[in-house]
Amino acid sequence: MAQDCSTDKNRTNWIETILNTLNVCPICGGHDFSYREVLWQELVSDWQLSLFEVNYINRQQGLNCVRCGNNLRSMALADALLCSFKYRGPLVKFVESDLAKTLNVLEINEAGGLSSVLEKLPNHQLVRYPEYDMTRLAFESATFDLVLHSDTLEHVPNPVAGLSECRRILTKNGRCIFTVPIIIGRLTRSRAGLKNSHHGATNQLGVDYIVHTEFGADMWKFALEAGFTSTRIHCLEYPSALAIEATTNNEQ
Ligand SMILES: [Zn+2]
Repeated sequence: MAQDCSTDKNRTNWIETILNTLNVCPICGGHDFSYREVLWQELVSDWQLSLFEVNYINRQQGLNCVRCGNNLRSMALADALLCSFKYRGPLVKFVESDLAKTLNVLEINEAGGLSSVLEKLPNHQLVRYPEYDMTRLAFESATFDLVLHSDTLEHVPNPVAGLSECRRILTKNGRCIFTVPIIIGRLTRSRAGLKNSHHGATNQLGVDYIVHTEFGADMWKFALEAGFTSTRIHCLEYPSALAIEATTNNEQ
């Protein structure tokens, strides 16, 4: 759905269209959504974002389910998970299913309000980056069926190393499902040598996260470079709500 958002009128129309299109929250099943702009001018300048990019990133981070409070980014992650397991229904029901109860799940940083749902799983663990080094996960190889992270990888200095660790700890048919901010119209660039850029919620230590990588249209390659054999881009809404599923069918 390539939309012309170059004028305020088109931009407003686009947002209204989406608000009417997204009719159910994949996390709680709610039907009401609110919207607020979340980007700030310094970040827009640092990242050299166009108006189109500003609009869809605002939606990704600022469109919220009224009932559960999750934003579109978290909804994309949940929808990718549900699709991966071919489950029809919201995440709050999935975690009560027999299949879900068998899964060993690792969450790296809370993905919005998904943690409060995922923690109902009997075999769910949560670790927090950067307090916990994502590039050196202290878990045995082939431990988890599912690894989740959301808008964390851009803060990891070596994202391939981070994904490689995710792959290592996955079982043979395991899945790594995650989101990163993707600037879809350009290629990935490192922010090495550029002015420090921060975003994301302030963590428990009161430290804002530095961004090391601005992911672009080629972000799929990071998963393959990390040893996954497949990368799939799941789209709940284009381009505001994309999530990546990386899998491998190689013997570990
Ligand atoms: Zn919801």
